[in-house]
Amino acid sequence: MSIGFVGLGNMGGRIARRLTDAGHPVLGYDPAPGSAERAGASPARDLAEIAAGAELIFLSLPDSRAVEAVVLGEGGLLDQAGAGLTIVDLSTAAPDSTRRIAALLDAKGGHYLDAGVSGGAAAAEKGTLTLMTGGDQEALERIRPQLETFAKKIFHLGGPGAGHSAKLLNNFLNAVSLAATSEVMVAGRKAGLDPHTLLDVLNSSSGANWATANRFPHIVDGDYLEGGLTSTLMTKDIVLYVDHLRDLGVPTLNAAGPLASFGLAANLGYADQISNRVVDAIGDIAGGVRVHEGERTQ
Ligand code: NAD
Repeated sequence: MSIGFVGLGNMGGRIARRLTDAGHPVLGYDPAPGSAERAGASPARDLAEIAAGAELIFLSLPDSRAVEAVVLGEGGLLDQAGAGLTIVDLSTAAPDSTRRIAALLDAKGGHYLDAGVSGGAAAAEKGTLTLMTGGDQEALERIRPQLETFAKKIFHLGGPGAGHSAKLLNNFLNAVSLAATSEVMVAGRKAGLDPHTLLDVLNSSSGANWATANRFPHIVDGDYLEGGLTSTLMTKDIVLYVDHLRDLGVPTLNAAGPLASFGLAANLGYADQISNRVVDAIGDIAGGVRVHEGERTQ
């Protein structure tokens, strides 16, 4: 199966690398110089070259605006899409936009699968990502071998948009737990508590969460796990969540905290760094607090 890949950044680059390492030739497109080569893919000149050659195209783009430009824009993938083309959107994107694109590709005899990704850069490298998919299940089954080169768990949640919906719900909880744990760890430091001991307490108690279990054990040793989701993208995900819940008629009573926290991080200079840096942003406005003794670069 000929594979195209559009968007070869932190996640896309690593996912494409899993595909090429497994022996699947990939044609890649990203305006960032050298990104296709780094992923072991052949660089495509433009989207037309991707659309002309591929039966399966992966997208890993910042947001729905970029996805719509790539798929629906002039010279975009839909222009040349024919029956039998499957596009898998690995971006975290707005479910209503996803459903609209899926209907347009469906009308041309193709399939658009949304596949929210969880696990971050490290899981992408190890091929242990979780995928939350929506769209035609038979189309999903046909490309399962390709998906399994980079994903360990593949959930099918329903029709178009269902995967992106689940992804927004999950990411909101990730945002809440990371922002709240950051605040608590900074407060613990100012209260004179040892960060390692406090973390042990939290992980043995009812405050345990993904951030206490998987992020802070590294952060308290000065390793921020760079390479993962930035504060800019985290803020985008929370805004998408708020929009989605407004469409669903559900109040977003808990969105203000993480929105303020990651917005603060972005505005204090951590916008393009991993969202775990939110702990430094909170530490900055708490008087220059760090929850570790010294930073490690790896
Ligand atoms: P990134 O910014 O590192 O990569 C995005 C890539 O898209 C960049 O290389 C950029 O040059 C490229 N791009 C932008 N517009 C383009 C266009 N019109 N045509 C072709 N390429 C274009 O972002 P990322 O961290 O890799 O995230 C990608 C998506 O995956 C986002 O939607 C993000 O929310 C989601 N996501 C990220 C993580 C993570 O841990 N980083 C985890 C799960 C999901």
